[in-house]
Amino acid sequence: MVMNALPFFYGNVTREEAEDYLGQASTGNGTYLLRQSRNYLGGFALSVFHSGRCYHYTIEKEPNEMYAIAGGKSHKTPVDVIDYHSQEMDGLVCLLKKPCNRPRNMQPKIGAFDDLKEKLIREYVQQTWNLQGAALEQAIISQKPQLEKLISTTAHEKMPWFHGSITREACEPRLQNGSRVNGKFLIRQRDAKGSFALCLLHERQVMHYRIDRDRTGKLSIPDGKKFDTLWQLVEHYSYKPDGLLRVLTEPCPRPHGETGKKPANTNQTYKTNVSSLFLLREMVISPSEAMPMDTDVYNPYADPDELRSSTVDRNQLFLEDGELGSGNFGTVMRGIYKMKRSEKTVAVKILKNDDNDQSVRDEMLREANVMQQLDNPYIVRMIGICEAENLMLVMELAELGPLHKFLQKNKQTTIKNLTELVHQVSMGMKYLEEHNFVHRDLAARNVLLVTQHYAKISDFGLSKAIAEEKNYYKAKGHGKWPVKWYAPECINYFKFSSKSDVWSFGVLMWEAYSYGQKPYKGLKGNDVMQMIEGGRRMDAPVNCPPEMYDLMKTCWTYKANERPGFKVVEPRLREYYYDIAS
Ligand code: AMP
Repeated sequence: MVMNALPFFYGNVTREEAEDYLGQASTGNGTYLLRQSRNYLGGFALSVFHSGRCYHYTIEKEPNEMYAIAGGKSHKTPVDVIDYHSQEMDGLVCLLKKPCNRPRNMQPKIGAFDDLKEKLIREYVQQTWNLQGAALEQAIISQKPQLEKLISTTAHEKMPWFHGSITREACEPRLQNGSRVNGKFLIRQRDAKGSFALCLLHERQVMHYRIDRDRTGKLSIPDGKKFDTLWQLVEHYSYKPDGLLRVLTEPCPRPHGETGKKPANTNQTYKTNVSSLFLLREMVISPSEAMPMDTDVYNPYADPDELRSSTVDRNQLFLEDGELGSGNFGTVMRGIYKMKRSEKTVAVKILKNDDNDQSVRDEMLREANVMQQLDNPYIVRMIGICEAENLMLVMELAELGPLHKFLQKNKQTTIKNLTELVHQVSMGMKYLEEHNFVHRDLAARNVLLVTQHYAKISDFGLSKAIAEEKNYYKAKGHGKWPVKWYAPECINYFKFSSKSDVWSFGVLMWEAYSYGQKPYKGLKGNDVMQMIEGGRRMDAPVNCPPEMYDLMKTCWTYKANERPGFKVVEPRLREYYYDIAS
């Protein structure tokens, strides 16, 4: 659900502003509005009018992605919390009766930090993973919710009021220097465990308040309100003293040239910056949440030039025991490709030798030819062809294997996680569409996982480059086709385009949200065609979000020219993903 589209959501307004809006509306008991929490990331606050005054409840986002008023029942969305409390008081002062909608033309308020965020995210991704151009943009698009969380907890380093790890003694002259306005303040770091101090000028005296981190990571001055981040704490005490001697007024600037980060070895500033962010990153993100950019298959061309060549020397390739998979061409093995400066684990598709069928060989070379032209983080890259005892196609390794099998074994995978992966596939497909390639075999079995949070499209055995003017590929005849994944025009006219890939993508989405079940279970290819021609489509998988089922059905639009392209499908997935993830 897009929060900004809710007429009674006010964004980052203060408690007092909320009371003003509710007061102006004066429509009686149980009138309510929803606003962004100013102390909990991803949380909300519910303000309710009752008997002449306002009551405020925090709706916290719980670690399991559910929302609840502290101590109350958990719900999937903040709106579900509201729906529930319009039926049940359950601790509230009264039932929620009527939303207090925003005045005409008023947009939800954007917080000071929201403006800064975009810039900080870009800088962070650029520095941490040394990314540029398309790889940088794609990293930001696919990991926006995670990056926002990360930046929110490290952004204070960029603030003028954050002075890093200086002593109490060292901070006093800084506050006494220059303007001595009441409420002039700074924050210093006290130790590496994440405790800080707020230092405040009051009648020419410096007051020091400890800021401690509790077991759940929340920050507060002793007995004070708790916050997820330092900048939220500063924002709060800048508008009300709430236990301090006075409100914060003027940030005490850092001495010229100094950053809020740990003192750096002059010629190593870049490294130090990044590692200090990394330290903080480990405090907020667990290893299982590693991002695609953390793996070495996100952007292999960022550094070693050795990967650019398209042939692999047999002497540099070491095959390991154990198959990753197999097909009618032969087997896929795990291997190590030893380059001059580094080595890389790889997947090696080995053509079986016995029948030495020229057509299978040509097929594999065609696949290699297509793969060689593609370079995208969400597509398995070819490293090279190796001609030795067998013909071998050396590719990036996607350790966790095909999506459908992974999901069959990991039924606890969250909807958010599924959506993240499916969105990545749509990004890879958007790239293919832009570069005029049709995949023709898009299915969950051909999406391979590098990690639980990183999917790549594979198997370009049926793929074709298409002429831009024509925008479809016409097959000469009916082959061994994955009919259940094919759009009507593929079956009826042998016509393949990005639009028919979109149809397959809808089936792939269905497979993902049904945790790797077979589509059209129990039906034969002919039955499926009749079902589609008769205007019927598969039902929604159990627990599938309605937004995602709607998108599947859109992908299954009968006429190719009325069906959206990946240019449209990808942003729809993106929007839904951001919505449930942030
Ligand atoms: P394919 O015929 O290309 O679909 O490959 C057959 C099977 O080999 C797949 O279903 C995977 O289990 C495995 N496989 C293929 N390519 C890779 C890869 N790059 N990384 C890991 N496993 C792979």
